[in-house]
Amino acid sequence: MIIHVSKISDKGYSLSDSIDIDNAQLLEEGSYFLEGVDFQVRFKRQDKRIQAQGTIQTAISLACVRCLEPFELKIHSRFDIILFPKEMMETRSAALDEEDLEYIFFEKDEIDLEKILVEQINLFVPFKPVCQAGCKGICPGCGANLNRGACPCDPSKNEIKFLFDKVKR
Ligand SMILES: [Zn+2]
Ligand SMILES: [Zn+2]
Repeated sequence: MIIHVSKISDKGYSLSDSIDIDNAQLLEEGSYFLEGVDFQVRFKRQDKRIQAQGTIQTAISLACVRCLEPFELKIHSRFDIILFPKEMMETRSAALDEEDLEYIFFEKDEIDLEKILVEQINLFVPFKPVCQAGCKGICPGCGANLNRGACPCDPSKNEIKFLFDKVKR
C-alpha cells in the first residue's frame, strides 16, 4: 500500500481502510492475525518531512511463553511518527540527530503504509507474551498445563504436604 507524497497537500491527507496483512509479517513466533487490520491515518507536511498520525485496530493470536497455549491479543495502537525523505539521510542534514536511529525514511516520493502499520503492530506485541498475568505455566515434570489444576508431581504441593506432616508430629 503505497502513498504518494505528492498527494499530501498543505491541508494534509487522510485515509482509513481495513486491510489484510500477511501473517509472515508478524515477528513473534507462532502469531497470526485473527481479523483484518483497521486503520486511520492522517499525513501532514512539515517542510520536507511528513508527519503520520493514526490508529490501528486488530487482533492477533499469540502463543503464551509459559503455558504454550494460544491466546488473543486485542491491538488498539496509536502512532505519531515523522518520515524523512531518503536524501536527507544521504546529505546528513543538520535536521537529523545522528544519535537517534529511529527515523523512518521514504524514497522516490513513496511511503509504504503497510510497512508502517506492520512496524506499529510488532511494537505493540509484548516481549515474552503471557496469556494472563498469573499464568502458572506447564509442569516441568509431566508437561501438564498447571492453569487447569495441579498435577501429581507438582513440587509445591508436595512441600505443603510435607510441612503438614511436620505440624502434626
Ligand atoms: Zn499461559
Ligand atoms: Zn507434573
